[in-house]
Amino acid sequence: MTTGALQGSDFADDEVVADLAAGGQTTWFRPELPPSASVLDSIDVDPQVMDDAAARFDRFAPWFASTFPETGTGVIESPLVAAPAAQADLDGRLGQTLPGRLWLKRDDTLPVSGSIKARGGFHEVLEHAETIAAEAGLDPQDARTYSGDAFRAQAAEHKIVVGSTGNLGLSIGILGASLGFACTVHMSADAREWKKVKLRSHGVEVIEHSGDFVAAVSAGRESAAADLRAHFVDDEDSVSLFAGYSVAALRLRDQFAALGEPIDADHQLVVYLPCGIGGGPGGVTYGLKRLFGDNVHCVFVEPATAPAMFLGVRTGLHSDISVQDIRLSGRTNADGLAVARPSRFIGPRIGPLISGFAGVSDDIISAGVAVLADTEGIEAEPSATAGLTVPWRGTVSVPPWPMDESTKHLVWLTGGAMVPAQERRHYLAEARTDLGALALT
Ligand SMILES: *Cc1c(COP(=O)(O)O)cnc(C)c1O
Repeated sequence: MTTGALQGSDFADDEVVADLAAGGQTTWFRPELPPSASVLDSIDVDPQVMDDAAARFDRFAPWFASTFPETGTGVIESPLVAAPAAQADLDGRLGQTLPGRLWLKRDDTLPVSGSIKARGGFHEVLEHAETIAAEAGLDPQDARTYSGDAFRAQAAEHKIVVGSTGNLGLSIGILGASLGFACTVHMSADAREWKKVKLRSHGVEVIEHSGDFVAAVSAGRESAAADLRAHFVDDEDSVSLFAGYSVAALRLRDQFAALGEPIDADHQLVVYLPCGIGGGPGGVTYGLKRLFGDNVHCVFVEPATAPAMFLGVRTGLHSDISVQDIRLSGRTNADGLAVARPSRFIGPRIGPLISGFAGVSDDIISAGVAVLADTEGIEAEPSATAGLTVPWRGTVSVPPWPMDESTKHLVWLTGGAMVPAQERRHYLAEARTDLGALALT
């Protein structure tokens, strides 16, 4: 397979890795990806996972509707919107006109937990709830089971454990606690204080670690292994998280269709996904490729200081290499993207489906917060804006998708709604001081 990835550890002379190591804004567009259909046929992912996860969310919709009335009919979904004002503003600030149209996927407003983690994290909690219900002789397919005392008594005897920099912990903790599970979230040093406070207010146990994200995940995994009644949500390796994220593709297909916006060979879609450990963007990419094949192109976007998935796929070493191996810090202000080593699950399977990678500096990620607030009235958190300027890189590097009027550029906004007002004001004030940094290279 020619995917442009290097073989083995032969990366010492690679100029893209050298650019990454220098900490600059690196772009890698991949013109020679194999056809999506042949990759999808060859990878070991059960083709049923996306439809099964969608059916699971449908079964739980009545439970969500009654437990979280703000979800309306109980569907956890976010709007898809065009962003003409942000597009015009960035045309000016970046000095290049983006052909085609800029769209935003508003996962910053996903109900209940306010980030893309509501997709994967909720799905894994729901799947686990079904397992516990079935073991207890209750009907796992009936949403009423989960409001009943019999289920809640069982759930209280079972624990859900997760390691997280924040947003995954929030989604697992809030949903798990509302189903009656005992929940423990192991948090890394970079996790924000307000997230810990919020979780504790839901009755979730928060254990703080001085190390990074991988250390928090390992601590969680170890504590759960010692406890037969504990389920560990493994962000480095979970098929259930992956399946939950992939459902976004089915919903997105329906949203574009409802707007009368085709996606086909003459109207291609490019999706820019902020990437931490890779589970969220990996699951979304899988779903989109299943539905749109070679007419969709997914670009993973990471902080220039923590390009873990970029480095793993480029070198072909996946989780066997970390950004510290090329002397990058792995630290960033982009909450949730401070990941030094990528998922074991995503790179080897989804790597050949990813059309491009981009590293973005922290001040440009931050500036995106100001651009969105001042042009579209959207208050996203910094990590969520990582992809905002990346569509314009196609005007200076040659991408494998058409750069003309027919192309839709969809920037996935991954979080924001849970951020307290005071923190948001702080992000925005800082973001306005970073606007001068906006540049393509
Ligand atoms: C988790 C997260 C991501 C990235 O998802 P991964 O599964 O870690 O790659 C992006 N943005 C936000 C706001 C997140 O919380």
